[in-house]
Amino acid sequence: MSGCYALIVAAGRGRRFGAERPKQYAELAGVPVLRHALAAFAGHPEVAGVLAVIHPDDTGLYAAAAEGLDLLAAVPGGDERQQSVALGLDALTPFAPDRVLIHDGARPFASPALISRVIAALEGADGALPVLPVTDTLKRVEHGRVAATVDRASLARAQTPQGFRFEAIRAAHASHAGQAMTDDAALAEAAGLAVAAVDGDPGNVKITTQDDLDAAARELAGLPPEYRTGSGFDVHRFGPGDHVTLCGVEIPHDRGLVGHSDADAGLHAITDALLGAIAAGDIGDHFPPSEPQWKGAPSRIFLAHAARLLAERGGKVVNVDLTLICERPKIGPHREAMAASVAEILGIEAARVGIKATTTERLGFTGRGEGLAAQAVVTVALSGG
Ligand code: MG
Repeated sequence: MSGCYALIVAAGRGRRFGAERPKQYAELAGVPVLRHALAAFAGHPEVAGVLAVIHPDDTGLYAAAAEGLDLLAAVPGGDERQQSVALGLDALTPFAPDRVLIHDGARPFASPALISRVIAALEGADGALPVLPVTDTLKRVEHGRVAATVDRASLARAQTPQGFRFEAIRAAHASHAGQAMTDDAALAEAAGLAVAAVDGDPGNVKITTQDDLDAAARELAGLPPEYRTGSGFDVHRFGPGDHVTLCGVEIPHDRGLVGHSDADAGLHAITDALLGAIAAGDIGDHFPPSEPQWKGAPSRIFLAHAARLLAERGGKVVNVDLTLICERPKIGPHREAMAASVAEILGIEAARVGIKATTTERLGFTGRGEGLAAQAVVTVALSGG
């Protein structure tokens, strides 16, 4: 017998999740998230026993989640995660474990290989922590300004299960009770234990938001994201003025564009395309021209609103393709600035925003210089299904 036990921490209330039940009990592929986590350890040949720490209010939810699995009796946790872990370690003591794996109940995808790696690393260390490299560039931000670029070479993202020699982590918890630590490895470091880093698993995600849950469900079902396309079209008339605003960029011109807002036909067309992709009506439904508050409004607020509606549905903008139709002003010199502006409003890379311009060979209202038209196509990816 290995004497290695698993402690699954599931006492949290999951307040960030916003659902009626804590995130670890949300349904994923027909069963609670927590059941996936419990089953991963209960079914591992090197794990001698699995004990969950739960919230006293969740007894019924837990019984349903654990039904039919070979588990030790769950114990109630405390107000904070650290307290819950300490209570779980106490409950394991009668089984005389020599090692323990401490795992978040909201991580349903701990693979057998990952669990084995953590256990193997305990051969030569007091603790073992699965980590992932940091791929994004990290910045130190102070008072809203970028103060420095942080060297990421020595940084890593921590996952669970975190493995420990049982008596060492128990003593660390006892000597640091009441001092809030971010995880058990932090506590082990504070207690001077040697914690080895092992390769984490990118698939071992933590379910924190509804989007995480939706993405995990699609992943489990082997479903690709759902792609949708929307189109938008807008026209504004030229009138007196010394500039036009297109895609949030002011362009000097001997005329202006007339409209209730800032008459930015480019952003209006993109906003309608985005709303169309999620079947959320059109710009006039969300910002009625009859309401005086939108008079002279910068159109970026319309596009930002549409982007927020998309994000709330778990969606992302894949690309934007905009065609501006006019004889003048010349669009070419401003294309890059326009793409950067649209990208900034949508929170995507500028390489995903195409800005094109054409004339109508002096034909029609655009040809006569009476007005300017804009036509947009937007593709979005929805992971929510
Ligand atoms: Mg308009």
